Amino acid sequence: MAMWGEMQQLLREVTTELGCSPSVYSVLKEPRRVLIVQVPVRRAGGTTEHFTAYRSQHNNACGPYKGGIRFHPAVTVDEVKALSAAMTIKCRVVNIPFGGAKGGVVVDPGTLDDSELEQLARGYVDVLGTNLGPDKDIPAPDVFTNSRIMAWMFDEFSRRSGANHFSFITGKPAQIGGSRGREEATGHGVGVVALRAMRRQGLDPVGARVAVQGFGNVGANAAAMLAREGCRVVACSDAGGGLHDPAGLPVDDLLAWEAAHPGRTIGEARLGRPIRSADPLYVPADVVIPAALEEQITGDTAGAVQAPIIVEAANGPTTRAGHARLLADGRTVVPDVLANAGGVTVSYFEWVQDLNSYFWDLEDVRARLAVFMERSFDDVVAEAGGAADLRRAAYRLAVRRLADAMAARGWL
Ligand code: GLU
Repeated sequence: MAMWGEMQQLLREVTTELGCSPSVYSVLKEPRRVLIVQVPVRRAGGTTEHFTAYRSQHNNACGPYKGGIRFHPAVTVDEVKALSAAMTIKCRVVNIPFGGAKGGVVVDPGTLDDSELEQLARGYVDVLGTNLGPDKDIPAPDVFTNSRIMAWMFDEFSRRSGANHFSFITGKPAQIGGSRGREEATGHGVGVVALRAMRRQGLDPVGARVAVQGFGNVGANAAAMLAREGCRVVACSDAGGGLHDPAGLPVDDLLAWEAAHPGRTIGEARLGRPIRSADPLYVPADVVIPAALEEQITGDTAGAVQAPIIVEAANGPTTRAGHARLLADGRTVVPDVLANAGGVTVSYFEWVQDLNSYFWDLEDVRARLAVFMERSFDDVVAEAGGAADLRRAAYRLAVRRLADAMAARGWL
């Protein structure tokens, strides 16, 4: 995977451009600590299988390490490193008191039964032991992990330490210290910045055509939010296929169909013309939202993107060459470290609520999230100062903030 090398290259360029001391790149070019462990799971057949798992702790100058854990068969150490560095940047873009981390387990969770999944979740916390904790490293959901898995991890950590530590992990169910609006937060934040990007370009969101690749938690919530705001969601897809309708898909019906047909692809819902999984990236649209996995828009495919605005809901959906081509074609790319930062922002709200044992209403969470997302969007646009490359601007803003913090601590 080229993602980690491309991340290092961007960090090197930005630190040079900002005139930072070479010590800044020297700190950022590798995570502070990368843990590689084996998590045992007793399979239903009686054998014990060990799953390779990672936790990359990139930088904690501004607060405890923070980042999700993904369960996916394609997880690699380089992917986890790149995603942990992206979390460092993301937390500085939205200016919340966390550093950057990421975890991953090499597993297809669809092959595990409930008891095996629970063992894996608990085992991850058990094996990483004291490396995690509410003022050290705070996990959260990511690809193929959810509030149920966070609940087991919270319970395991609390059991080990003999007391409830609600602030240990975010993305928990509401009954055990979860925040209202955390589940929808990443998609909702994507919607907030998409609306701001449209208005900035003089595009009326009402009736604007939006296409979403990926109908997991992030893509589905972004589609629902933008549909509520009056956008026409013309295409949606998941890993198995998708649907297209230039007049706009019935998003509520699609969500209801999905809930009623777990494990099936939305491409089978008879609510639009069936398309392939990657097609939403290339249909006629005003806004394209890649909300699936990494490296979807590449140097080879970027030329086929028709929308003027691309909002990166997934982490790393555009390769460096793909990004260069999109910019050369005059497209606006709202980068992942800004666009999908709503998830970690509401994780921050959850952590604050847990520490205070005082919980906010959904309206409160949404309103505060909008403040963080809109302010961060405006900060990035201001940093760009008219330049087209908002990714570089976001990294510049974040690296400058981080370098100031590290200098103040005497790290440089
Ligand atoms: N996994 C999400 C992300 O990539 C959320 C991380 C968090 O809430 O800590 O931003």
